[in-house]
Amino acid sequence: MSATWAAVVPAAGSSRRMGRDKILAPLQGVPAVVRTLSALRSAGVRHLMVGVRPAGGSDVVGAVLADHGFGDACLVEGGETRAATVARCVERLARGVTHVVVHDGARPFATPDLIARVMAAGEADGAACAALPVVDALHRSDAEGRIVASPAREGLWRAQTPQAFRRDLLESAHRRGAAAADDATLVAASGWPVRLVRGEEANVKLTFPEDLRPAGAGTATAVGFGADVHRLVEGRPLVLGGVRIPWERGLLGHSDADVLCHALADAVLGAAGLGDIGQHFPPDDPAYAGADSLELLRRCRELAYEAGWRPLQADCLITAQRPRLAPHVSAMRQALAGVLGTPVARVNVKAGTAEGLGALGREEGIAAQAVVLLGAGSA
Ligand code: MG
Repeated sequence: MSATWAAVVPAAGSSRRMGRDKILAPLQGVPAVVRTLSALRSAGVRHLMVGVRPAGGSDVVGAVLADHGFGDACLVEGGETRAATVARCVERLARGVTHVVVHDGARPFATPDLIARVMAAGEADGAACAALPVVDALHRSDAEGRIVASPAREGLWRAQTPQAFRRDLLESAHRRGAAAADDATLVAASGWPVRLVRGEEANVKLTFPEDLRPAGAGTATAVGFGADVHRLVEGRPLVLGGVRIPWERGLLGHSDADVLCHALADAVLGAAGLGDIGQHFPPDDPAYAGADSLELLRRCRELAYEAGWRPLQADCLITAQRPRLAPHVSAMRQALAGVLGTPVARVNVKAGTAEGLGALGREEGIAAQAVVLLGAGSA
């Protein structure tokens, strides 16, 4: 009889160290858990079961999964611990399932090849676990961080997921129910030998924001575009590119109405696949009344950073009939480069008039456009 596989994907963690829900963290625009499920499906797993946070987790994750073609994944409310979440999923496995591959929702970089190799070993030996041999020296420390022992690393492995098991072995291991960091520990403790399968260095578990950097993505780039226009009125300061410009009128808006920062922020979000500033900083939210748009740009840069992207270059155009902006361009470039985290030379600001044409030519407003290039990585 051939094996019928199901995947159990624990995704109910609190993401404390990440500072946001890592399961939904966009990796070049694709939520982490969607990448994880895609890899499982590519490895040939048809039954997908995702353990989500009890309070509203199934609504949020369910909507995201449906959006990305995984509406048939079965969502199960998780427990207090990872082990409890896996146990709840295992209890709900469909009748015909003979084998289970457990894979952390927060390990989106595992390749279908690794998953398939672990499944093959699990089918052959009953239990298998992706792991990497420890290559670094090991030390145990005291409370002050001083070495008190240096265990030999020979024969030591760092466990990853996927981990693959015969269903009955996994069920009985969870029924015995001890606290354990992973399922291989539980199954091994129940007396069944677990085969170690060489894992992948890139198969990290998303824990810290820097883990969102895609594996081997040193050359990946993304381009974003942004544009904005604001009306010129009496009695408002004129702020462009974070620089206060002496002028008889200023731009009307809920924030400081810095049209250049807004265009740049939209370009950064666009390149990172994160929507637009209106979604992240609603214009009717009183928290942003009079907001410093340079600070909004900084927050957008941080959102991109959390998604694994950093700005490499920006090119901007301001269209203003008056005032003459050339004397302020250098200060704008300095301010913007400081927030984007790039050298000043990589941030270009051009200013032009509207040649007297249309509303901008009649000095009814000022417009800005920006193109941003992001590179993968958080360095
Ligand atoms: Mg605006």
